[in-house]
Amino acid sequence: MIKFTQINCPNCDGQIEIPKQSSTVVCGYCNTTVNVKSGEILKENYFMRLQYDLDLATDKMYSWGAKQLGAPKNLGQSKVVESKLVFWPFWVVEVEAKANYTGIQKKPDFKGKDKQKRLSWNKISETGNLDMEQDIFIPANPDTPRSLKEYIIPTKRKEFFDKDQILEVRGTTKTVQMEQKVALQKAKKMMSDVLRKEALKEVDSITKMDEKMKTPAVFLVSIPIWHIKYCYKIRNYDALVDGASGRIVYLEFPRKMAFRAMTLLSGLLHLVIGGGIGVLLVYLGLTSPEVIFPTIFGIAFGLGMLAISLRFFRTAISLKAGMEEAR
Ligand SMILES: [Zn+2]
Repeated sequence: MIKFTQINCPNCDGQIEIPKQSSTVVCGYCNTTVNVKSGEILKENYFMRLQYDLDLATDKMYSWGAKQLGAPKNLGQSKVVESKLVFWPFWVVEVEAKANYTGIQKKPDFKGKDKQKRLSWNKISETGNLDMEQDIFIPANPDTPRSLKEYIIPTKRKEFFDKDQILEVRGTTKTVQMEQKVALQKAKKMMSDVLRKEALKEVDSITKMDEKMKTPAVFLVSIPIWHIKYCYKIRNYDALVDGASGRIVYLEFPRKMAFRAMTLLSGLLHLVIGGGIGVLLVYLGLTSPEVIFPTIFGIAFGLGMLAISLRFFRTAISLKAGMEEAR
């Protein structure tokens, strides 16, 4: 059961019911967005208008799905079993970051003459600057599907939030359960991780990092997502389609038996050959004690082939593909 409490709209004085755990709510009378705790008006609340109705969205989904590795060409003959349109809220934080870092870079150093050349590593201190700008997306509702959390949302064509428009396309909204403050903190933390990763491309370890961050813009945006369950032959599969851009966020699809069989066979072959050669090399290494090399190589080779075969097995079993064309 969702419990409600109430506040009065700071714009029109209308009564707004607050669903449990909501941090911002939209006034049903005047469409004003209000911060529940402070009672302040949040102007920057947007949504993406639905551009793909269920038919368009499923068409796009089937044609994209049919192009996936091992998927049946007649995926379009599937039937939609269930569908709902959910507008998921996200905080979008524009972060500008500048950083100076000091780190240690290992450089190879060859010492000695010809035959007794020895490799050693020189540790060199290096400094550098980073200047980055990024939009960071933070799901504002804890129930946001996992694949949607990783989705980079196109938000260029956003419009001011309008509950009527959402009701008109029979969409449902999800409560905003994260304070703007918290979203800002998270965004900075995420940007800080991005900076460190970037710095670690230049140096092996970071000894000092000075960061300066600005957040020139922060806004809420709700994205229309089609949650679709469709049936191909006798099994059901799930999909998420962005109703604003038509992009496939997540798609489960059937894989043809022939494809699965081939993949499985490839996996087995790798396993057998890898195992065989691996064992042979290990045997060679052990029987000629002066050279340990074949043993080590044999183990490494065997493990490598095992990893490859596991990948084949996973592909044979898996029914998923995620994310169309990441930006
Ligand atoms: Zn109002």
